[in-house]
Amino acid sequence: MDLNIKTTENNHLEIGGLDAVKIAEEHGTPSYVIDENRIRDNYKRFYNAFSKYYPDFKVFYACKANTNIAVLKILEEEGSCIDAVSPGEVYISKKLGFKGDKILFTGNNIKDSELKEVFDAGVILNIDSVSALKRLAEIIDPDGVKISFRVNPMVGAGHHDHCITGGVMSKFGIMDSEAVEVYNLAKELGFNPVGMHSHIGSGILDPEPFKLAIESTMDIAGKVHNETGIEFEFLDFGGGIGIPYTPEEKVLDLDKFAKENMDLFKKKLKEYDMNKPTLYLEPGRYLVGDASVLLVEVNSIKESYRKFIGVDAGFNTLLRPAMYDSYHHIVVANKMNEENAEEVDIAGNVCESGDLFARDRPLPKVEEGDILAILNAGAYSFTMASNYNTRPLPKEILVSGKKSIVVREKQSYDDIFQKQTMPEHLK
Ligand SMILES: *Cc1c(COP(=O)(O)O)cnc(C)c1O
Repeated sequence: MDLNIKTTENNHLEIGGLDAVKIAEEHGTPSYVIDENRIRDNYKRFYNAFSKYYPDFKVFYACKANTNIAVLKILEEEGSCIDAVSPGEVYISKKLGFKGDKILFTGNNIKDSELKEVFDAGVILNIDSVSALKRLAEIIDPDGVKISFRVNPMVGAGHHDHCITGGVMSKFGIMDSEAVEVYNLAKELGFNPVGMHSHIGSGILDPEPFKLAIESTMDIAGKVHNETGIEFEFLDFGGGIGIPYTPEEKVLDLDKFAKENMDLFKKKLKEYDMNKPTLYLEPGRYLVGDASVLLVEVNSIKESYRKFIGVDAGFNTLLRPAMYDSYHHIVVANKMNEENAEEVDIAGNVCESGDLFARDRPLPKVEEGDILAILNAGAYSFTMASNYNTRPLPKEILVSGKKSIVVREKQSYDDIFQKQTMPEHLK
């Protein structure tokens, strides 16, 4: 099994050298627990895999996966750049020390005030539509301003329909057939188009769609290069690299993946007689997904038509199972040596019947008070959490050097309501 699971000598789940059950006792549940070393290892593995075959390579961490400021700072220390999809992500990245030229902004349906805000922050804009290009040209002086375009490589892939971002049904990118025209228009408007970007989806463990996307993006880039004379400073093939969530899934053979994709990339550069641009990739999930677990406590067990294990978090805390039908592996953190004994439904505490973390999940005999660890909760987990049911956002704990450090306090009730104001006539 390729899941990232370690066990202590007393058969508890281990996170970054610490006992997960002790972390739960000390900090309470629900808590997201982040393993600093795992993020650093993931980054190094990813960076080394591609730079080995194409040294002029930069990693742009797609920070919508996890914007905890400690996570961002760890990746900044490792040398990562940032892929931002909103002005808020640009704001926090800059504040934490990422320089403007280390941030690429890939917005979608962005309004003028936001285009301006991001431009003023000194960030390179990766433009997603002709509309955005024309509007940007009106609100700033485009003279010599470096920009990039997101193209739709007509290949899509991902773990769920919602996560497929290429192909005719996708709202993202400009069409391959209009690329030459759009790059020419950018030049006419005075911009300096230096990059091309594609991103086909998320949660990809099969190397084939990624190769197809590189091939198709390179064909678009080659055509633009030949017909407009643009020499690209960078080519960006997005992120989407998956991690195993189920015990059956295998980790991607990253070295093979990098080699095959880089062979193809270099072949295409030659084919179109292009200079060597910097390669950008934008992993999100791959860097942080398996570095966190969500610790929850079993607070009630109900034997009705089915057996329900009730825990103290819900889809307000971790949305992926309810939103994407995602599988998250779940272990009983205080019973790691026990064999599976029954199949149970693991239900959250939100008043919605879709609030389930798992159906028919084999687990050891579970009792009230047990601590469950929902694994692979580092990406698209806390960042999708909400206050639904008026529950505070939970704590986040960073495990670093065998210490557990609170990196986000649990919200108070007043935090939830702080921006509301009572109209005069109701006071
Ligand atoms: C979400 C996103 C990514 C990262 O996707 P992962 O599946 O987390 O690697 C990269 N680039 C863009 C533009 C994105 O929107």
